[in-house]
Formats: sequence, C-alpha cells, structure tokens
Amino acid sequence: DIELAIKVVIVGNGGVGKSSMIQRYCKGIFTKDYKKTIGVDFLERQIEIDGEDVRIMLWDTAGQEEFDCITKAYYRGAQASVLVFSTTDRASFEAIKDWKRKVENECNEIPTVIVQNKIDLIEQAVVTADEVETLAKVLNCRLIRTSVKEDINVASVFRYLATKCHQL
Ligand code: GDP
Ligand code: MG
Repeated sequence: DIELAIKVVIVGNGGVGKSSMIQRYCKGIFTKDYKKTIGVDFLERQIEIDGEDVRIMLWDTAGQEEFDCITKAYYRGAQASVLVFSTTDRASFEAIKDWKRKVENECNEIPTVIVQNKIDLIEQAVVTADEVETLAKVLNCRLIRTSVKEDINVASVFRYLATKCHQL
C-alpha cells in the first residue's frame, strides 16, 4: 500500500521538454512530436524510497506556459517542483528565476530541482556550466542535467524529490 503520494509540478518555458519528461518517466517512451492534449494531463509512477511505496503524481499543462496563465489549480497542493530549461534555449535559462518565484508564490518553500534538459545537445549549448551552477547556488536548488531523449538522469530528478519529501 502507498505510504506517501507526492504531487510534483513541472514548470519552464515552452519547448524545454516538460511533456517529454513526464511521458519518459511515467510511460518509458520518447517521441519527437508528442501530441498536446487540451487541458491538463495527469500521469503517475510508483517508486520505492527506503522500503516504502511512494506515488509520484505529475501534471502536464497543454502549453499554457506560453500565455503565462497556468492556473492556481495546477500548483495547488504541490509538494515539490521541477524548474526546467533547455541547453539550447537561452531565454528558457533566463526565465528560471521567474518560474521559481511563481512556484514560491503559490506553494511557499518546497523541495525544488533545477533541470538542465537536452544535455545530448551540449555541442549546441547557449549556456555555460559555470553560469548554470551559479544560478542553482543563488536559488538554493539542486541542479540535475538530463537528456529525456537519451534517458539520462530523468529518474534521479524524481527520486531526489521523493527522498526530500519523505524526510520532511
Ligand atoms: P514542453 O513544451 O516543455 O512540454 O516540451 P516538449 O516535451 O513538447 O518538447 C519539445 C521538443 O523538444 C520536442 O520536439 C521533444 O522531442 C524535444 N526534446 C525533449 N527533450 C529532449 C532532449 O532531452 N533532447 C533532445 N534532443 N530533444 C528533446
Ligand atoms: Mg508540453
């Protein structure tokens, strides 16, 4: 039986790989053009932390991030958050501070990870390792570099957050 259920919100600019990350983590698949659904998608995955079953619940938005109108309902009750930017999108990196603030406004202080996604495209990087590490330090968040495409470090993001929540 489930000891703990954790709602995790995943935010960041459009195109950074949020939907892909949720599909990868919950369904084990990666597609180049994941069809956006209308409204909010919900997926979950069960993992074990310290011998206890933990249910990770993930909501995906249908691209409303472009219009800055993610509803309060999306954030409500979230116990952890993931702030995602893309290795190849400078604006998405610069928006991380604002996403952090938005999450904080709705959820107060919750365990948060900054994810640098698309690390498979590191040769086309528009951010330096240094500035990413500095931002993570300033915002006091764990930094995890992922490739949803190559399935690198995706599970670590949720394992880290579940462990944090489990300890609270
Ligand atoms: P969202 O708008 O944040 O939900 O982003 P999507 O999940 O829709 O992804 C946007 C595009 O980036 C899609 O074409 C994905 O296939 C692609 N993508 C997502 N993750 C990765 C990754 O790790 N590496 C590469 N090369 N492409 C990715
Ligand atoms: Mg999406």
